[in-house]
Amino acid sequence: MKKASIVTIGNEVLSGQTLDTNAAYLGRKLLSIGIPAVSCYTVGDEVDLIVRGLELASGDADLVLVTGGLGPTGDDLTRQACAKFLGVDLQLQDELLQKIRKFFAMRDLQMPEANTIQAYIPTGAKAIENRVGTAPGFTACKNDKLFFVMPGVPVEMKQMFEESVLSRLSEFAGKQAVAVRKLKCFGTGESKIAELLGDLCQRGRNPLINCTVRAGVITLDIIATAGDKATAEGMAEKDEKLLDGLLGELVYGRGEQTLAEVVGKELAKQGKTIAVAESCTGGCLAKLLTDIAGASRYFKQGWVTYSNSCKSSELGVSADLIEKHGAVSEQVAEAMAQGVKKNAGTDFAVGITGIAGPTGGSEQKPVGLVYISLGSDNGCETRRFVISGDRELIRLRAAQTALNMLRLKLEV
Ligand code: AMP
Ligand code: MG
Repeated sequence: MKKASIVTIGNEVLSGQTLDTNAAYLGRKLLSIGIPAVSCYTVGDEVDLIVRGLELASGDADLVLVTGGLGPTGDDLTRQACAKFLGVDLQLQDELLQKIRKFFAMRDLQMPEANTIQAYIPTGAKAIENRVGTAPGFTACKNDKLFFVMPGVPVEMKQMFEESVLSRLSEFAGKQAVAVRKLKCFGTGESKIAELLGDLCQRGRNPLINCTVRAGVITLDIIATAGDKATAEGMAEKDEKLLDGLLGELVYGRGEQTLAEVVGKELAKQGKTIAVAESCTGGCLAKLLTDIAGASRYFKQGWVTYSNSCKSSELGVSADLIEKHGAVSEQVAEAMAQGVKKNAGTDFAVGITGIAGPTGGSEQKPVGLVYISLGSDNGCETRRFVISGDRELIRLRAAQTALNMLRLKLEV
């Protein structure tokens, strides 16, 4: 089983100034060709740190992908570090120097002396062409481990990877294959999912099941590795069915599907329409619904009724009701949904009211308290939630929760 490790180099990555998008890109690409990345090291622009990173990475894996530190300035030391790691000197490659000179000449520029360093690569290494910038990459081998060293600039790295590295790696992977399935869940926490899945989440299992959560959406990655593609696909599919059965209605979709997409598709299929009234979510639910192309088939209208007075004037929520129960209450959420249903004449109507924070909470009505009412021809179903997170997350999760109520109503 061939494995990969990634080394990203640069102080700007460590300081948080630059997000390590290179590692994310390479991790995805590697998985797609059946060579999973098992580790990733980020090191600063220092020769000894880079050498250490290369040692660790090659200790973990058969293949090491390196990005960064190939610029012409004094802080770019990846070439020197690779030469030290390989136990060789740097060697000037005339052909590379000509190419770099040409790069400048074509732009009517004189090549700065500093760029000469980019024509040096470790002795025995093979240069990889950079068609976007001046820094060539290179590939080398040590103790049967294969190294590809690429520039840090994402557009240069991607071009080099796709044009020159990828085909070499597919060869290297041989028939080894990885199949990935994703199940999307909503309506419970990670720990409940872990409880339902039990031993299936154990490390070292094949397929490996990874669980991640974002704004209430839990993604389960099923990663199967096998000697050929068909076997890997079969294993992933078997687990997908198994998980689907165990998780039941918590599973709302597959792959990259969003709740809004799933709900929209079903509304269109059933020929139903929807309108919404939002207070604490400020239009977030309407946005999620209308993010989907073709939403006009089912989405009629949205109100952002933020003040008490407009809840009354726009939706007919009685001032007495608001006075008696408060704007954030089950009764007001329900009256909002009823007002929407009446005004818009849709099959479904949603009313949301809550406290997004960070201020405005109390003992009885804490920050994150949200009431969501879903109206249909059979009346209203109103639920109380206490959502954790900051203001942005509470609003997003509240809107997603409304979509999830709708999904369950539509029986998707
Ligand atoms: P370098 O090859 O070290 O000269 O990198 C040049 C530029 O590429 C840096 O200024 C960063 O903005 C960007 N860069 C370097 N490493 C990464 C990385 N791991 N992910 C995304 N961008 C990067
Ligand atoms: Mg750098």
